[in-house]
Order: sequence, then structure tokens, then C-alpha cells
Amino acid sequence: MPIILTINAGSSSVKYQCFEMTDEVCLAKGQVDRLGSPSPNLFYERHDNLTYQTDIPPMEYESVFHSIFATLLDTEKGILQNLHDIVAVGHRVVHGGSRFAESALITAEVETAINQCVPLAPLHNPYNLGGISACRHALPNAAHVAVFDTAFHQTMPDYAYMYALPHSLYERYGIRRYGFHGTSHRYVSMRAAEILGRPLTSLKLITCHLGNGCSITAVNQGKSVDTSMGLTPLEGLMMGTRCGDIDPAIIFHLMEEGQMSADTINQILNRESGLLGVSAVASDVRDLLRAVSEGNPQAVLALKMFSYRVRQYIGKYAAVLGGLDALIFTAGIGENASSIRAAICKNLGFLGIHLDAEKNQSKEMEKVIHRKGARVKLLVVPTNEELMIARDTLALIEG
Ligand code: ADP
Repeated sequence: MPIILTINAGSSSVKYQCFEMTDEVCLAKGQVDRLGSPSPNLFYERHDNLTYQTDIPPMEYESVFHSIFATLLDTEKGILQNLHDIVAVGHRVVHGGSRFAESALITAEVETAINQCVPLAPLHNPYNLGGISACRHALPNAAHVAVFDTAFHQTMPDYAYMYALPHSLYERYGIRRYGFHGTSHRYVSMRAAEILGRPLTSLKLITCHLGNGCSITAVNQGKSVDTSMGLTPLEGLMMGTRCGDIDPAIIFHLMEEGQMSADTINQILNRESGLLGVSAVASDVRDLLRAVSEGNPQAVLALKMFSYRVRQYIGKYAAVLGGLDALIFTAGIGENASSIRAAICKNLGFLGIHLDAEKNQSKEMEKVIHRKGARVKLLVVPTNEELMIARDTLALIEG
């Protein structure tokens, strides 16, 4: 029974899942969050719904992994008798640059290449590398695999990934569109093909990953051909706290007229904009829907802008694909907010998109929500990036 551990190591949290891969069952999962605060929190959930939560003292990054392993090995709560039962670890790595079009077994050379991508993702790749290093120390005999958020989008053609900037900036600094959430877009594309009972290679899909971070991808025959996030995850759709597409000259205007520093503007665009910035209420869609029901006009505007922008990209990507077989919603908002899905699909009948109001309200997590006979299939597919990471890891160790 091959056990694979998946690790998502970030600056403020480390999330993990332990899979038994014969049946693709998650045996246990958990996270340590509020890292960097005086009282980080450790949460653990076993397959039989036993849960465990405790505050832990602040600790070095590597020690966080020791706490996780101790929980997995605990005689009462744990699932492992020996750490060596873990045959491989799949690590989520945010940025693989142009170097990685697929997941990779981590060698010294691969680790160096991930390190070279740090300037492209300074807030993510260093922590991903920290997780790799800690797990390699603890599990020296296991295989370690890197699964990149950017890899799925490496199939974009150059005219989609290049910015209309001097070519020298691409050569010197690697300035281009990379795209993110690739593991999620890939997973839901594959699952959609299974649900539709058609080969992925025969389908034109648009996948909408709408969570705190939001991105949308045009998938032709299983390959990403365009995606809304760019050099960084700031571009594209309006998000919880990120602005998405703006006129870049706004930045210079704020520098000159508002006397703002680059740091201040960075903070505004990444953390104080999007749904939070426009509504001045919250970044969380549940809070915004509540505010809308209480008649808050700024919350109404924020959600109108959010759906309008997703709809704009659907039109754009239908044109990119030259047609559309299915539109897929995933992640927190895509999976749960039926009213937002309805707002997005409004007025898209000319493309063959017709939402069935009743099916859209169904309590099923995975569901088909188009009207009978509609040309474009509409699907809600819960994402499962961890399972995709575990599958890639297994494939690489078996290969
Ligand atoms: P992350 O990008 O952090 O993984 P998630 O995929 O969990 O984010 O999505 C978070 C978003 O999903 C939040 O805006 C939250 O409001 C929204 N969301 C979660 N559950 C619901 C729900 N039942 N109804 C509406 N929105 C929801």
C-alpha cells in the first residue's frame, strides 16, 4: 500500500495530506497555520473524522514539519507506524519558470532550478524550498517530487504568453505570462472529460478557478492555451484582495500624484483591492452576499464587477478557442456561490451557455448545471490539487 504525502508549504501555513494510492484515499490531512504569530495552530483530521487542534509554540520552519510527522506517528491519533511507510512526498512549488512543463523528481539540479525561480515568486518559492529541505532531512529514503503551479500553462503559444514590451526584458528578466493554479485547472479539465464521457483531447474547455485567488484558463485538447494570471498571480480576474487587470499607468499616477512608494502600491494592489477594496466590507464572498441582502451598494458593485469580469474572460477565451464545449466552475466561490455562477452565465446565451436555475441550486458538490439541450455543458467540479500532486508523484516514482 504506497503512501504518499503531499506538502503545500507557504509563508504563513504548511498544509499536508497523506494518501493511500491503491484506492486514492486520503488517510489524514492537516495544517499548521498562523506561522510567524506568537501561537501557531496545528489542525489534524483523520479519515474516520477524528480531529485534533492545538496551539503550538513559535518554532523554526523545519520544526513545523517535525510537529506534523509527530502527529502522523502518534499511537492514538496517527496513521503511521513508521515514517518510512511514506514512499514519496509531492511538494507543491508555485513557480517553475519556463524550465518545468511537468512535475519533476527533485534532484540537486532541480532544487537549484527552483531556487533560480525565486525572483519570480519571492513570497512562495523560498518556503516551498524550505519544505523540500525539511522533508528530505526527515525522509532521506523517500522520493521527492515537485509539482508546479505554472507547469500546466507551459503549452501556451508565444503570442499568448508574451507581453508587448521590449523583447530584451523577456530575455534579461524572464518577463512573460506564466500563469498559476495549473494543478487545479488540469485536475478539473481531466475530471470534466470523465464526467462528459469524452476524451479530453476532443474538448474545448474554459476552467474558472474562483477562490480567494481567481484565474481562468482556455484549455484546448487538454492543453492550456491561455490563462488570466501573468508574470505573477496579480493579473487577470478581480480577486478577494487583488485588483486583477488594471491600467499599469495607474501605478505611476499614484507615485506622482499620491506620492506613494512602490511598497505601498504593491500592498494596495495585492492586499487592499479586489472585492475587499471595492466593497470596503470584506474579501469573503459569504460576507459580501450578506451585505448585498442588507442593501449595501458597494457590496452590490463589487460582486457585479466580479461576475462581469469573469464573463468578459469567457467571451475572450471562447474566441481564443474558436468554440466551446464546456465551462467549468471550481474553488470556493466557483463550487459554492450559485448566485455568482448565475450572474456570470447571464447573457451568454449567444455562445450556447444556458444555465438551469434548479440544477444550479443542487446541493451535490459535483454537478452538471446546464439546461437540457444546451450547446455548452456547464459543470461544477470540486478541485483536488492534493490528489493531482499525489498522482503525479506516484507516476514519477513508478516511471
Ligand atoms: P483559496 O484560494 O484560499 O484556496 P478557496 O478556494 O477556499 O480559497 O475560496 C475562498 C472563497 O470561497 C471565499 O471568497 C469564500 O467566501 C468563498 N466561499 C466559500 N464557501 C462559500 C459559500 N458557501 N458560499 C459563497 N462563497 C463561498
